[in-house]
Amino acid sequence: MSSSSAAPLRLRLDREALVSNWRWLRAVGGDAACGAAIKANGYGLGSRQVMAHLAAAGCRDFFVATWAEAEALMPLPEGVSLSVLHGVRAEDMPAALSGVARPVLNTPEQVARWRKAGGGACDVMIDTGINRLGLDWRQDCAALTEGLTIHTLMSHLACADEDHALNAQQRDRFADVAQKVKAGRLSLSNSAGILLGESYRFGLTRPGLALYGGMPRAEAESGIRQVVFPQAQILQRRKIRAGDTAGYSATFTATQDVEAAILNLGYADGYLRGFSGRGAALVEGVRLPVLGRVSMDLLIIDVSAQPDLAEGDWVDIEYDLRIASAQSGLSHYELLTGLGARYDRIWA
Ligand SMILES: *Cc1c(COP(=O)(O)O)cnc(C)c1O
Repeated sequence: MSSSSAAPLRLRLDREALVSNWRWLRAVGGDAACGAAIKANGYGLGSRQVMAHLAAAGCRDFFVATWAEAEALMPLPEGVSLSVLHGVRAEDMPAALSGVARPVLNTPEQVARWRKAGGGACDVMIDTGINRLGLDWRQDCAALTEGLTIHTLMSHLACADEDHALNAQQRDRFADVAQKVKAGRLSLSNSAGILLGESYRFGLTRPGLALYGGMPRAEAESGIRQVVFPQAQILQRRKIRAGDTAGYSATFTATQDVEAAILNLGYADGYLRGFSGRGAALVEGVRLPVLGRVSMDLLIIDVSAQPDLAEGDWVDIEYDLRIASAQSGLSHYELLTGLGARYDRIWA
Protein backbone atom coordinates (compact mmCIF):
# COMPACT_ATOMS: atom_id res chain seq x y z
CA MET A 1 0.00 0.00 0.00
CA SER A 2 2.71 2.52 0.88
CA SER A 3 5.40 3.39 -1.66
CA SER A 4 9.11 3.13 -1.03
CA SER A 5 9.47 6.67 0.30
CA ALA A 6 8.62 7.12 3.98
CA ALA A 7 5.32 8.90 4.57
CA PRO A 8 5.22 12.08 6.68
CA LEU A 9 2.65 10.47 8.96
CA ARG A 10 2.60 7.07 10.59
CA LEU A 11 0.79 4.78 12.96
CA ARG A 12 2.92 3.20 15.62
CA LEU A 13 1.13 -0.08 16.30
CA ASP A 14 1.77 -2.09 19.46
CA ARG A 15 1.77 -5.81 18.65
CA GLU A 16 2.08 -6.79 22.31
CA ALA A 17 -0.97 -4.71 23.21
CA LEU A 18 -2.99 -6.28 20.38
CA VAL A 19 -2.07 -9.79 21.48
CA SER A 20 -2.59 -8.92 25.14
CA ASN A 21 -6.09 -7.61 24.34
CA TRP A 22 -6.93 -10.82 22.49
CA ARG A 23 -5.63 -12.96 25.37
CA TRP A 24 -7.61 -10.91 27.89
CA LEU A 25 -10.82 -11.29 25.86
CA ARG A 26 -10.18 -15.01 25.49
CA ALA A 27 -9.66 -15.36 29.24
CA VAL A 28 -12.84 -13.40 30.03
CA GLY A 29 -14.64 -15.63 27.52
CA GLY A 30 -13.91 -18.72 29.61
CA ASP A 31 -14.37 -21.94 27.63
CA ALA A 32 -15.33 -20.20 24.40
CA ALA A 33 -12.80 -19.97 21.60
CA CYS A 34 -11.89 -16.37 20.80
CA GLY A 35 -11.91 -15.23 17.17
CA ALA A 36 -11.24 -11.83 15.65
CA ALA A 37 -13.23 -9.48 13.43
CA ILE A 38 -10.69 -7.98 11.02
CA LYS A 39 -13.05 -6.30 8.53
CA ALA A 40 -12.46 -2.73 7.36
CA ASN A 41 -8.74 -3.44 7.04
CA GLY A 42 -8.48 -4.66 10.61
CA TYR A 43 -10.39 -1.61 11.89
CA GLY A 44 -7.83 0.59 10.16
CA LEU A 45 -4.69 -1.08 11.53
CA GLY A 46 -3.99 -3.35 8.55
CA SER A 47 -5.81 -6.67 8.32
CA ARG A 48 -2.88 -8.76 7.08
CA GLN A 49 -0.63 -7.82 9.98
CA VAL A 50 -3.43 -8.12 12.53
CA MET A 51 -4.23 -11.58 11.23
CA ALA A 52 -0.56 -12.64 11.26
CA HIS A 53 -0.01 -11.43 14.84
CA LEU A 54 -3.20 -12.96 16.21
CA ALA A 55 -2.72 -16.23 14.33
CA ALA A 56 0.77 -16.48 15.82
CA ALA A 57 -0.81 -16.01 19.25
CA GLY A 58 -3.24 -18.86 18.62
CA CYS A 59 -6.34 -17.19 17.17
CA ARG A 60 -8.00 -19.51 14.64
CA ASP A 61 -11.24 -17.81 13.55
CA PHE A 62 -11.30 -14.60 11.55
CA PHE A 63 -14.16 -12.55 10.11
CA VAL A 64 -14.26 -10.04 7.27
CA ALA A 65 -17.24 -8.31 5.66
CA THR A 66 -16.66 -8.88 1.93
CA TRP A 67 -14.99 -11.26 -0.51
CA ALA A 68 -12.61 -8.53 -1.64
CA GLU A 69 -11.42 -8.27 1.96
CA ALA A 70 -11.01 -12.06 2.09
CA GLU A 71 -9.03 -12.19 -1.16
CA ALA A 72 -6.69 -9.44 0.06
CA LEU A 73 -5.70 -11.77 2.92
CA MET A 74 -4.54 -14.65 0.73
CA PRO A 75 -2.61 -16.78 1.38
CA LEU A 76 -3.93 -17.38 4.89
CA PRO A 77 -1.63 -18.38 7.73
CA GLU A 78 -1.54 -22.12 8.40
CA GLY A 79 -4.59 -23.56 10.18
CA VAL A 80 -6.85 -20.51 10.33
CA SER A 81 -10.44 -20.19 9.19
CA LEU A 82 -11.94 -17.11 7.57
CA SER A 83 -15.63 -16.24 7.27
CA VAL A 84 -17.24 -13.58 5.10
CA LEU A 85 -20.02 -11.94 7.09
CA HIS A 86 -21.97 -10.45 4.20
CA GLY A 87 -22.69 -13.79 2.58
CA VAL A 88 -22.77 -14.57 -1.13
CA ARG A 89 -24.27 -12.41 -3.80
CA ALA A 90 -24.45 -13.99 -7.26
CA GLU A 91 -21.28 -12.11 -8.21
CA ASP A 92 -19.43 -13.53 -5.17
CA MET A 93 -19.95 -17.16 -6.12
CA PRO A 94 -16.68 -17.71 -8.04
CA ALA A 95 -14.66 -16.41 -5.09
CA ALA A 96 -16.80 -18.29 -2.57
CA LEU A 97 -16.61 -21.60 -4.45
CA SER A 98 -12.82 -21.33 -4.71
CA GLY A 99 -12.81 -22.20 -1.02
CA VAL A 100 -10.74 -19.28 0.26
CA ALA A 101 -13.27 -18.61 3.01
CA ARG A 102 -16.69 -19.67 4.26
CA PRO A 103 -19.72 -17.53 3.51
CA VAL A 104 -22.00 -16.53 6.35
CA LEU A 105 -25.39 -17.13 4.71
CA ASN A 106 -27.86 -14.41 5.66
CA THR A 107 -30.96 -14.78 3.48
CA PRO A 108 -33.12 -17.59 2.07
CA GLU A 109 -31.84 -16.53 -1.37
CA GLN A 110 -28.22 -16.98 -0.28
CA VAL A 111 -29.05 -20.37 1.24
CA ALA A 112 -30.69 -21.47 -2.01
CA ARG A 113 -27.76 -20.20 -4.07
CA TRP A 114 -25.24 -22.02 -1.90
CA ARG A 115 -27.23 -25.26 -1.81
CA LYS A 116 -27.75 -25.26 -5.58
CA ALA A 117 -24.02 -24.79 -6.17
CA GLY A 118 -23.17 -27.63 -3.76
CA GLY A 119 -20.99 -25.15 -1.90
CA GLY A 120 -19.96 -27.24 1.13
CA ALA A 121 -19.37 -25.99 4.65
CA CYS A 122 -20.84 -22.58 5.46
CA ASP A 123 -21.82 -20.40 8.39
CA VAL A 124 -25.33 -19.10 8.98
CA MET A 125 -26.44 -15.83 10.58
CA ILE A 126 -29.71 -15.71 12.53
CA ASP A 127 -31.18 -12.25 13.08
CA THR A 128 -32.48 -12.25 16.65
CA GLY A 129 -33.54 -8.62 16.84
CA ILE A 130 -31.01 -6.22 15.34
CA ASN A 131 -32.95 -6.36 12.06
CA ARG A 132 -29.89 -6.15 9.93
CA LEU A 133 -28.48 -9.28 8.26
CA GLY A 134 -29.63 -12.84 8.88
CA LEU A 135 -32.52 -15.29 8.76
CA ASP A 136 -35.36 -14.04 10.93
CA TRP A 137 -35.41 -16.05 14.19
CA ARG A 138 -39.21 -16.41 13.88
CA GLN A 139 -38.90 -18.29 10.59
CA ASP A 140 -38.53 -22.05 10.52
CA CYS A 141 -34.74 -21.82 10.45
CA ALA A 142 -34.33 -25.59 10.70
CA ALA A 143 -36.36 -26.16 7.54
CA LEU A 144 -34.68 -23.25 5.76
CA THR A 145 -31.19 -24.60 6.42
CA GLU A 146 -32.03 -28.29 5.92
CA GLY A 147 -29.16 -30.17 4.32
CA LEU A 148 -26.54 -27.47 4.79
CA THR A 149 -23.26 -28.29 6.51
CA ILE A 150 -23.19 -25.47 9.04
CA HIS A 151 -19.80 -24.89 10.57
CA THR A 152 -20.80 -21.95 12.79
CA LEU A 153 -24.30 -20.76 13.56
CA MET A 154 -24.24 -17.16 14.74
CA SER A 155 -26.22 -14.11 15.71
CA HIS A 156 -25.23 -10.54 16.50
CA LEU A 157 -26.20 -8.35 19.47
CA ALA A 158 -27.65 -4.88 18.91
CA CYS A 159 -27.06 -3.33 22.34
CA ALA A 160 -24.23 -5.23 24.00
CA ASP A 161 -22.46 -2.01 24.93
CA GLU A 162 -25.48 -1.01 27.04
CA ASP A 163 -27.57 -2.69 29.71
CA HIS A 164 -30.62 -3.21 27.55
CA ALA A 165 -33.46 -5.72 27.75
CA LEU A 166 -32.82 -6.73 24.15
CA ASN A 167 -29.55 -8.44 25.15
CA ALA A 168 -31.20 -11.25 27.09
CA GLN A 169 -33.99 -11.50 24.54
CA GLN A 170 -31.52 -11.98 21.71
CA ARG A 171 -29.54 -14.53 23.73
CA ASP A 172 -32.66 -16.56 24.47
CA ARG A 173 -33.92 -16.38 20.90
CA PHE A 174 -30.54 -17.54 19.66
CA ALA A 175 -30.37 -20.40 22.15
CA ASP A 176 -33.85 -21.44 21.03
CA VAL A 177 -32.95 -21.50 17.32
CA ALA A 178 -29.71 -23.30 18.15
CA GLN A 179 -31.71 -26.16 19.67
CA LYS A 180 -33.36 -26.81 16.34
CA VAL A 181 -30.62 -26.10 13.79
CA LYS A 182 -27.73 -28.52 13.49
CA ALA A 183 -24.39 -26.70 13.57
CA GLY A 184 -20.83 -27.47 14.55
CA ARG A 185 -20.52 -24.44 16.75
CA LEU A 186 -22.42 -21.45 18.12
CA SER A 187 -21.31 -17.81 18.26
CA LEU A 188 -23.12 -14.72 19.56
CA SER A 189 -20.86 -12.16 21.16
CA ASN A 190 -18.82 -9.26 19.84
CA SER A 191 -16.39 -7.41 22.16
CA ALA A 192 -19.11 -5.96 24.36
CA GLY A 193 -21.11 -9.21 24.42
CA ILE A 194 -18.18 -11.11 25.93
CA LEU A 195 -18.45 -8.79 28.94
CA LEU A 196 -22.16 -9.47 29.46
CA GLY A 197 -21.51 -12.77 31.20
CA GLU A 198 -21.08 -16.48 30.72
CA SER A 199 -24.48 -17.12 29.13
CA TYR A 200 -23.59 -14.89 26.18
CA ARG A 201 -20.38 -16.65 25.20
CA PHE A 202 -21.43 -19.96 23.58
CA GLY A 203 -18.63 -21.76 21.68
CA LEU A 204 -16.91 -18.89 19.90
CA THR A 205 -16.69 -15.14 20.44
CA ARG A 206 -16.04 -12.55 17.71
CA PRO A 207 -14.42 -9.45 19.19
CA GLY A 208 -13.31 -6.59 16.96
CA LEU A 209 -13.20 -3.20 18.64
CA ALA A 210 -11.62 -4.23 21.95
CA LEU A 211 -8.75 -6.03 20.18
CA TYR A 212 -7.72 -2.68 18.79
CA GLY A 213 -7.96 -0.82 22.09
CA GLY A 214 -11.59 0.32 21.93
CA MET A 215 -13.62 0.24 25.12
CA PRO A 216 -17.05 -1.24 24.43
CA ARG A 217 -18.06 -1.22 28.10
CA ALA A 218 -16.57 0.06 31.35
CA GLU A 219 -15.60 -3.53 32.28
CA ALA A 220 -12.99 -3.43 29.49
CA GLU A 221 -10.95 -0.67 31.11
CA SER A 222 -9.12 -3.06 33.43
CA GLY A 223 -7.87 -5.27 30.60
CA ILE A 224 -7.77 -3.43 27.30
CA ARG A 225 -4.71 -1.48 26.19
CA GLN A 226 -4.29 1.20 23.54
CA VAL A 227 -2.81 -0.25 20.33
CA VAL A 228 -2.72 2.72 17.93
CA PHE A 229 -0.42 5.72 18.29
CA PRO A 230 -0.56 8.20 15.38
CA GLN A 231 2.47 10.36 14.74
CA ALA A 232 2.94 13.23 12.31
CA GLN A 233 5.97 15.08 11.03
CA ILE A 234 6.52 18.83 11.27
CA LEU A 235 6.64 20.34 7.77
CA GLN A 236 7.23 23.92 8.89
CA ARG A 237 7.72 25.93 12.06
CA ARG A 238 6.59 29.54 12.05
CA LYS A 239 5.62 32.46 14.22
CA ILE A 240 1.99 33.56 14.16
CA ARG A 241 2.08 37.24 15.02
CA ALA A 242 -0.26 38.82 17.55
CA GLY A 243 -3.44 39.80 15.71
CA ASP A 244 -2.90 37.32 12.85
CA THR A 245 -5.25 34.44 12.21
CA ALA A 246 -4.36 30.87 11.27
CA GLY A 247 -6.02 28.27 9.09
CA TYR A 248 -9.18 28.11 7.00
CA SER A 249 -11.96 30.50 7.93
CA ALA A 250 -9.54 32.30 10.25
CA THR A 251 -11.15 30.72 13.31
CA PHE A 252 -8.00 31.18 15.43
CA THR A 253 -6.66 34.64 16.22
CA ALA A 254 -3.33 35.02 18.05
CA THR A 255 -3.71 37.32 21.07
CA GLN A 256 0.10 37.34 21.40
CA ASP A 257 2.92 35.99 19.24
CA VAL A 258 2.58 32.20 19.01
CA GLU A 259 5.15 29.61 17.92
CA ALA A 260 3.35 27.19 15.62
CA ALA A 261 4.19 23.94 13.83
CA ILE A 262 2.43 22.69 10.73
CA LEU A 263 1.90 18.92 10.81
CA ASN A 264 1.29 16.54 7.95
CA LEU A 265 -2.09 15.28 9.18
CA GLY A 266 -5.65 16.20 8.32
CA TYR A 267 -9.23 15.11 7.99
CA ALA A 268 -8.42 12.98 4.94
CA ASP A 269 -6.38 10.88 7.40
CA GLY A 270 -9.33 10.41 9.74
CA TYR A 271 -8.32 13.32 11.97
CA LEU A 272 -11.72 14.89 11.47
CA ARG A 273 -12.78 18.48 11.92
CA GLY A 274 -14.20 17.75 15.37
CA PHE A 275 -10.62 18.02 16.65
CA SER A 276 -10.41 21.65 15.49
CA GLY A 277 -9.41 23.77 18.46
CA ARG A 278 -9.71 20.70 20.74
CA GLY A 279 -7.11 18.09 19.85
CA ALA A 280 -3.41 18.20 20.64
CA ALA A 281 -0.01 16.77 19.92
CA LEU A 282 2.08 15.39 22.78
CA VAL A 283 5.82 15.87 23.15
CA GLU A 284 7.55 14.67 26.30
CA GLY A 285 4.26 14.76 28.13
CA VAL A 286 3.55 18.38 27.12
CA ARG A 287 0.23 19.03 25.37
CA LEU A 288 0.56 21.13 22.24
CA PRO A 289 -2.96 22.25 21.33
CA VAL A 290 -4.47 22.31 17.84
CA LEU A 291 -4.94 25.88 16.63
CA GLY A 292 -7.94 26.65 14.45
CA ARG A 293 -9.44 24.32 11.95
CA VAL A 294 -8.16 20.91 10.85
CA SER A 295 -7.44 21.00 7.10
CA MET A 296 -7.62 18.08 4.67
CA ASP A 297 -3.90 17.30 4.92
CA LEU A 298 -2.49 19.73 7.47
CA LEU A 299 -2.81 20.64 11.11
CA ILE A 300 -1.52 23.69 13.01
CA ILE A 301 -0.36 23.20 16.61
CA ASP A 302 0.98 25.57 19.25
CA VAL A 303 4.59 24.63 20.02
CA SER A 304 5.42 27.65 22.20
CA ALA A 305 6.10 25.20 25.07
CA GLN A 306 8.72 23.32 22.99
CA PRO A 307 11.32 25.78 21.69
CA ASP A 308 13.53 23.04 20.22
CA LEU A 309 10.97 21.35 18.00
CA ALA A 310 11.99 21.86 14.40
CA GLU A 311 11.05 21.10 10.82
CA GLY A 312 11.45 17.34 10.25
CA ASP A 313 10.76 16.36 13.86
CA TRP A 314 7.96 13.93 14.71
CA VAL A 315 5.26 14.45 17.32
CA ASP A 316 2.75 12.07 18.86
CA ILE A 317 -0.91 12.89 18.32
CA GLU A 318 -3.09 12.69 21.43
CA TYR A 319 -5.27 9.72 20.46
CA ASP A 320 -6.16 7.83 23.64
CA LEU A 321 -9.50 6.60 22.34
CA ARG A 322 -11.47 7.84 25.34
CA ILE A 323 -9.89 11.29 25.22
CA ALA A 324 -10.06 11.54 21.42
CA SER A 325 -13.70 10.46 21.48
CA ALA A 326 -14.60 13.16 24.00
CA GLN A 327 -12.72 15.77 21.94
CA SER A 328 -14.12 14.87 18.55
CA GLY A 329 -17.52 13.36 19.22
CA LEU A 330 -16.43 10.28 17.24
CA SER A 331 -16.97 6.74 18.50
CA HIS A 332 -14.00 4.45 19.14
CA TYR A 333 -15.07 2.56 16.00
CA GLU A 334 -14.92 5.71 13.88
CA LEU A 335 -11.61 6.82 15.38
CA LEU A 336 -10.02 3.52 14.32
CA THR A 337 -11.67 2.72 10.99
CA GLY A 338 -11.24 6.28 9.72
CA LEU A 339 -7.44 6.05 9.81
CA GLY A 340 -6.66 6.31 6.12
CA ALA A 341 -4.31 4.82 3.59
CA ARG A 342 -1.63 7.51 3.84
CA TYR A 343 -0.05 6.41 7.13
CA ASP A 344 2.95 4.14 7.22
CA ARG A 345 1.84 1.40 9.59
CA ILE A 346 4.75 0.38 11.76
CA TRP A 347 4.38 -2.54 14.16
CA ALA A 348 6.69 -2.67 17.11
C1 LIG B 1 -18.10 -6.21 13.39
C2 LIG B 1 -18.72 -7.44 13.92
C3 LIG B 1 -18.22 -8.05 15.08
C4 LIG B 1 -17.19 -7.37 15.97
O1 LIG B 1 -17.86 -6.36 16.70
P1 LIG B 1 -17.11 -5.39 17.77
O2 LIG B 1 -18.22 -4.60 18.33
O3 LIG B 1 -16.16 -4.57 16.98
O4 LIG B 1 -16.44 -6.26 18.75
C5 LIG B 1 -18.72 -9.29 15.45
N1 LIG B 1 -19.71 -9.88 14.72
C6 LIG B 1 -20.23 -9.32 13.61
C7 LIG B 1 -21.32 -10.01 12.87
C8 LIG B 1 -19.77 -8.08 13.19
O5 LIG B 1 -20.32 -7.51 12.10
